[in-house]
Amino acid sequence: MPSGFSAKDNKALVAACLACQKITPTALMISLAGAENGRPKYSAVCLSCANNGWRPPGFSGLYQPRYE
Ligand SMILES: [Zn+2]
Repeated sequence: MPSGFSAKDNKALVAACLACQKITPTALMISLAGAENGRPKYSAVCLSCANNGWRPPGFSGLYQPRYE
């Protein structure tokens, strides 16, 4: 582990939200289990989309809001 490196500065830990396409830190994202052709499919969305009610097609699980 190089010194002077911290997770806070790691800009690689971001991903695009599937719902709003916004680049979001993965710490502020949640993956919701949906289904496609009978197979489980996970969709990573930002917390604001999830909290606004966005769900992947075939979503049948429980969503537990996660606030940071
Ligand atoms: Zn979003």
